[in-house]
Amino acid sequence: DKKQNFGFRFNNSYLELPQTFYSHVTANEVTSPSIVIFNRTLAEKLGLDARELKEHGAAILAGQEMPDGAAQIAQAYAGHQFGHFNMLGDGRALLIGEHLTENGKRFDLQLKGSGLTPYSRGGDGRAALGPMLREFIISEAMHALSIPTTRSLAVTATGDIIYRETALEGAVLTRVAASHLRVGTFQYAAAFGEADDLKALADYAIERHYPELMQSENRYLALLEAVIDRQASLIAKWQSVGFIHGVMNTDNMTISGETIDYGPCAFMDTYDVATVFSSIDRQGRYAYRNQPPIASWNLTRFAESLLPLLHENEEEAVQLAQTILGKFPSIYEAYYYSEMREKLGLLSIDDQDEKLIDDLLNLMEEHEADYTNTFRTLSEGKRPDNDLFQSDAFKQWQKRWFERIEQQDTTIDETMQVMQSVNPAFIPRNHFVEQAINQFAEGDPSMFAEMLQVLTSPFTVPEQYKKYTQPPTDEEPPFVSYC
Ligand code: AMP
Ligand code: MG
Ligand code: MG
Repeated sequence: DKKQNFGFRFNNSYLELPQTFYSHVTANEVTSPSIVIFNRTLAEKLGLDARELKEHGAAILAGQEMPDGAAQIAQAYAGHQFGHFNMLGDGRALLIGEHLTENGKRFDLQLKGSGLTPYSRGGDGRAALGPMLREFIISEAMHALSIPTTRSLAVTATGDIIYRETALEGAVLTRVAASHLRVGTFQYAAAFGEADDLKALADYAIERHYPELMQSENRYLALLEAVIDRQASLIAKWQSVGFIHGVMNTDNMTISGETIDYGPCAFMDTYDVATVFSSIDRQGRYAYRNQPPIASWNLTRFAESLLPLLHENEEEAVQLAQTILGKFPSIYEAYYYSEMREKLGLLSIDDQDEKLIDDLLNLMEEHEADYTNTFRTLSEGKRPDNDLFQSDAFKQWQKRWFERIEQQDTTIDETMQVMQSVNPAFIPRNHFVEQAINQFAEGDPSMFAEMLQVLTSPFTVPEQYKKYTQPPTDEEPPFVSYC
């Protein structure tokens, strides 16, 4: 019951950082909070009282009441947005606190869309129902694809109208994250803080996410190396499923290595490395093919922020940072080809694998093949009647692939089992996601619920849900996102 605080057990370590890193805030008042979607599985995993929270937690999840022990803060950070440096901070989010699970795991619980904060600048501090439902379903789909990500506990409608281009229903997303430390948090400390602030932040990040580095000879260099490694691994996973983040600003890159901030993101249908979805990304800065180099660019900003900690002599510090940053491409490639090798059922390593993978991707691009369905079809041993599969070039490629698999100790059946466990049948295709969200906003959540079910078991294909594997038709307008 309520007296037991819904199972929340807060321990707010972030409050021990210097005061410059946050502001105490209260949520804006809302008219009539009601939970419209609740993630029971996640609530239970966190050790929360799921039933109680779902039934009586709307006021808390809209920020109107705070559970015992809440921190109630907005975090300060800066960041490069499309290459331009700005002071930012949580302009529409409130960190309830850090919840500790029974086995000692620490999670930030944050309300996104809860109202004005000292960092709101010109914004209204609010969020609309549609984009919060989008973040909910896509983050949960990412999690089901085994991609590190923040998660979504609930979407709570506020009963208020907010204004964008049109009047929209307001909502608050409850976001669950390993932390909300970002590259931009370090940029904030480096640009606006005292020397001690940066050090306090770096030590905090190490303790929270990389405790094994505490004993390192140069722990700040080790932190840089560790974040580079996790981000390289993360971006490789994005590439392997065709996920395009859309706003890879430095404030949207976590220190934990989780994907964060689902704004104009989307999964690509047709394989095309130039794909961009965001309407504000006119230059294609954050196109699919640019995600690895942009990650490297962001990590360079991270390294710059850390310079004073890396070595007392600046030139030496720059040298150290450059050496480590220079390894990003090869670290990324190793992760990427490891993901892709698995997608093709290549369970050992051969010199020719990278070429085999690249050749398939080139053929897919040439024949405008659907990214997800091509890999899924290969793993089901099917040969559909489409341009790619019927081309001679593909048949030659397939012969090489079969020969390569025959070199392994596995049978083709075993290989395909592995492939089916890593090549999803279902990704959150935008033409369906948009339809599901629109129906939800009009009062019918059934399609959204059905899609959520499919996307949280993306490797099994129930016959009645096969429709969700369909790419958009040529008649459908290409997806563009607005944030
Ligand atoms: P994003 O593009 O989502 O990473 O957000 C960039 C910055 O804009 C962050 O500081 C957000 O808190 C802020 N922001 C986004 N939307 C709003 C809003 N409606 N009101 C106030 N601040 C916002
Ligand atoms: Mg953001
Ligand atoms: Mg955002």
